[in-house]
Amino acid sequence: MRMFGTNGVRGIANDSLSCELALRMGKSIGTVLGPTIALAYDTRTSSRMIRDAVRSGLVSVGTDVIDLGMVPTPALQHYVKMRPGITGGVMITASHNPPEYNGIKCISGDGTECSHEEEQRIEDAYDGDIRCVGWESIGTVRHVLDAAEEYVDSIVSKVDRESIRAARLTVCVDCANGASVETAPMLMSRLGVRAITINGNPQGEFPGHPSEPTEENLEDLKRLVVDTGADLGIAHDGDADRCVFVTSDGRFVSGDLSLALLARNELSRNGGGRVMVTVATSKVVEDTVESNGGETVYTAVGSPIVAREMISGGGVFGGEENGGLIFADHQYCRDGGMGAARMLESIARNGPLSEQVDSLPRYRTIKKAVRCPDCLKTEVIETVCRMHEDGRIDRRDGLRIDFDDGWVLIRPSGTEPKFRIYSESKDDAVAEARSESFVREIEDIIGERARSLPDDLP
Ligand code: MG
Repeated sequence: MRMFGTNGVRGIANDSLSCELALRMGKSIGTVLGPTIALAYDTRTSSRMIRDAVRSGLVSVGTDVIDLGMVPTPALQHYVKMRPGITGGVMITASHNPPEYNGIKCISGDGTECSHEEEQRIEDAYDGDIRCVGWESIGTVRHVLDAAEEYVDSIVSKVDRESIRAARLTVCVDCANGASVETAPMLMSRLGVRAITINGNPQGEFPGHPSEPTEENLEDLKRLVVDTGADLGIAHDGDADRCVFVTSDGRFVSGDLSLALLARNELSRNGGGRVMVTVATSKVVEDTVESNGGETVYTAVGSPIVAREMISGGGVFGGEENGGLIFADHQYCRDGGMGAARMLESIARNGPLSEQVDSLPRYRTIKKAVRCPDCLKTEVIETVCRMHEDGRIDRRDGLRIDFDDGWVLIRPSGTEPKFRIYSESKDDAVAEARSESFVREIEDIIGERARSLPDDLP
């Protein structure tokens, strides 16, 4: 049975993600990734319950568990990466999803997210005959209380602490009541930054705002930065593997722009290098990377794909336009704490974030969605592809067409019956006209085909 989506197993707690499922997942994960697994969870109301079920499953097949408690996903990944004796990790989180959701995310022995092949093996184990061990071989559980501190220490050791301290910065931090409630204020204090924290209590119903760090969800943070005269706003998602920024004048910085700025930093630190980003990333990153002596490598969408491409292709930096930032000199996964620290370092060295943002080329990016039954997605993509076969086509993920004055990406959603359509250009009118024309083209193809299909399709 296919259980893993793009970000582990996800579902509504006590509904599609039941304790029974979590228990069997624990057994399957132990069978495949054992014999020693580190386990952690986020602040969601259901997280401890799911953790207990997964942990029982793990020990029942003889896996020893190191329970790190409530820590960010990248803190768990760092803990696993640093210890060759730990053969895998499990994070109980649904990241940015609404509070009723939870999830089980698997980590390989090197601290990266499990590959598709490993997930497949876990699913096969789930569907097969799982043998529990005899009572005398049941796995042990050891609680470790300082994984968060170790993660913060590691970040602090990788940045220019003296410059950050000397800049005497004030920062507003929005923890979204999620997994960064302990680590984010701790990191600010270790870097000598004055931190004003909001949504800093571990509350799994996310009373402050939904746990995805989008501009709409960060109105309070934007206001707070301006009202307190802070130098920067930092926001994390529910499991704190992502981070996004707000300038001192209260502007939300899109993930594309922070990718570009941090890419510039990493290239100067490394004297050039490769930067890996997905095909859904704004050209502002490629422009910035090129003008700073680096090379942009495009990948399919998904942070594990970007991370693996960085490992195989020797990337110094990479990420996604949703605030996922990956630093090769720390660890090959989205790393919200490291992103925050490197942005502070950049402000301390290069000046205000607003000025840095204004120095970047300006693009207009439009994102739209078109509903499409799952069974038609491949056919629609192929048809659009044929209609534009004289263009510069990239089929790495969906269909991307590059033009002299912009690009379009048509990407089938992995979880919903829809296409996501991106259009970007330096010229607002071009971006808008192209977005509209592709939306119309796709709706026409779907309309044409849907007439010959039964009525009850999604
Ligand atoms: Mg996340």
